[in-house]
Amino acid sequence: MGWDFSDKIAVVTGGAKGIGRAITEKLLSYNTTVIIIYNNSQENAENICKAAENAGRKAYAIRCNVTNPSEVKNAFEYIEKTFKKLDFLINNAGITKDNLLIRMKDEEWLDVVSTNLNGVFYCTRSAVKLMLRKRYGRIINISSIVGISGNPGQSNYAATKAGIIGFTKAAAKEMGGKNILVNAIAPGYIETDMVSVMPEEFKTMILGNIPLHRYGTPEDVAGLVCFLLSDDAGYINGAVVDINGGIL
Ligand code: NAD
Repeated sequence: MGWDFSDKIAVVTGGAKGIGRAITEKLLSYNTTVIIIYNNSQENAENICKAAENAGRKAYAIRCNVTNPSEVKNAFEYIEKTFKKLDFLINNAGITKDNLLIRMKDEEWLDVVSTNLNGVFYCTRSAVKLMLRKRYGRIINISSIVGISGNPGQSNYAATKAGIIGFTKAAAKEMGGKNILVNAIAPGYIETDMVSVMPEEFKTMILGNIPLHRYGTPEDVAGLVCFLLSDDAGYINGAVVDINGGIL
């Protein structure tokens, strides 16, 4: 199954690594023009762009720290100047800085909020300005199962991922009338660096609770993203779609 996104321009934040990379590659396979926003993963981003070019696809990379409102503004101004429009935004960039609430440092709280929540706001605000011009847009925000269920040691992360759900629902109500649909995805445990750093006993416990007896793959999430971006999902707006193997 696949879609033809050959007339679409997409931005994927954190699109050079992990889930974001799988989203970038799946979008490229459907002929989307993809702009990767990366912060530190320059080499990955350049390799993806080169591989895309060799395969006759179009991928571009912009270095931009999503926590910085002026860098985000500049990045989207560049996109407007270069590509003239924007169809898809996937707000995927995110970090964890886990600690028990009682030990959590201000910096751990603020860094996670800046990246996971402020970053989504800055990118969405810039993207919708562009999307409004064509009265078309699809925005997918990557939340988390942890934003729904909570998780010890992740009060900062859970707060931001729950915040993304509220943000998504409000934006969907504001923008739906302009044909800009906004949805969130709440992945469970997906095999990336974010999960590989979790303690082994925790990983074993989680695996035992997943009815499908496996972690999700970045490609599982990418497939769902592409469905939500497609016309087949044209009546889905303000939704939070679980993808967790049945653990919740
Ligand atoms: P990852 O660490 O492999 O990738 C995160 C990406 O975000 C990286 O490319 C990183 O460079 C980028 N990023 C971080 N801070 C940035 C910044 N300030 N500016 C620009 N880019 C920045 O993690 P992942 O597992 O692929 O996670 C991707 C998203 O999925 C995150 O939002 C994460 O919270 C969410 N998520 C992951 C899981 C999981 O199990 N892996 C589960 C639920 C939700």
